[in-house]
Amino acid sequence: MAFFDKLKRMMGFSSAQATREEGTGKLEPGEKIRGRPRIHVLATGGTIAGRLVSTGPRYRAGVLGIEALLDAVPALRGLADLSHEQVANIGSQDMDESIWLNLARRVNELLASPDVDGVVITHGTDTLEETACFLDLAVDSVKPVVLVGATRPAGALGADGPGNLLDAVTVTANPASSGRGVLVVMHGSLFEARDITKVSSSALPAFAAPNSGPLGQLVDGRIHYGQRTVLSPKRPCFDVSRLDKLPPVGIVYGHAGASALPIKAMLDAGYRGIVSAGVGSGNLHRDVLAALADASGRGVVVVRASRVPSGLTLRNVEVDDNRFGFVAAGMLNPQKARVLLQLALTRTRKPEEIQKVFDSY
Ligand code: GLU
Repeated sequence: MAFFDKLKRMMGFSSAQATREEGTGKLEPGEKIRGRPRIHVLATGGTIAGRLVSTGPRYRAGVLGIEALLDAVPALRGLADLSHEQVANIGSQDMDESIWLNLARRVNELLASPDVDGVVITHGTDTLEETACFLDLAVDSVKPVVLVGATRPAGALGADGPGNLLDAVTVTANPASSGRGVLVVMHGSLFEARDITKVSSSALPAFAAPNSGPLGQLVDGRIHYGQRTVLSPKRPCFDVSRLDKLPPVGIVYGHAGASALPIKAMLDAGYRGIVSAGVGSGNLHRDVLAALADASGRGVVVVRASRVPSGLTLRNVEVDDNRFGFVAAGMLNPQKARVLLQLALTRTRKPEEIQKVFDSY
């Protein structure tokens, strides 16, 4: 019987009953792994697979294959039976929806198998948070899915990839990680996909969850969950198995003296949704407000988020969302609001329905 099926039984769930809301992994923090979990590693590139180069830019992301990454950390084999596959080998600035859709399908397929207890995904840090959010919304399983990256390439002094990878497998192998949605492990901390964001382009630690903080910490290979995960029973989950593309949605960045020009370009290009990375609590320059109100009137769904790194964007604070038919992003930053809007648009174009989807994530 698969490792997590055993866990569900221990916890009193039949396989048919188990849902992502139920499997909250009630083992003690730091409890040792029992048995040999089987973990599949999907590699997509990034600095964790990067190498220092002697000419031109200092290093290149997405060079090393997954076998080299796993071989560099022999201790991994002591934690789990590992299988692996290379999905892509790119800098995550080139991540796109076709890779997302493939990844989601593959992760769902793997986790549906009794032979796989969890999935680790190696990823560049630039867009890691968006992929984590997409998978959080498109993977339907209680089994752990953990994304991991590195900010220093192999060969650099203080390379963080091997330690992060070891931590990611440690988290994935631990029953207490089940039923928590997609997780991200970086620099000794463990985060939920929804709130994590890259907060430094140069210093470590590079990630934080500004509104909720980390879910837990890893110390000497032991996980200490500091927070319980309570996933809403109404949490959205999208079936992307039959999609080959997502509706086009753009982001417009707010600033002093902002112009409506990017919005006009998006309307001309047939975008179905626009996310505003507004100022303050998602406020908009008057020209931008007028253009977005016009877009909304034409059936383009407008979501107001904020360029401010923490805090919430709530409805009808300084902007009359009811009047303009806008959606408020709540806790999601603009790039994650874009992910959720793309998925929500596969179901409906009604802003009030889309607001409910945002409110339930
Ligand atoms: N830009 C590359 C990427 O996101 C390297 C950055 C990194 O992984 O830290 O894949």
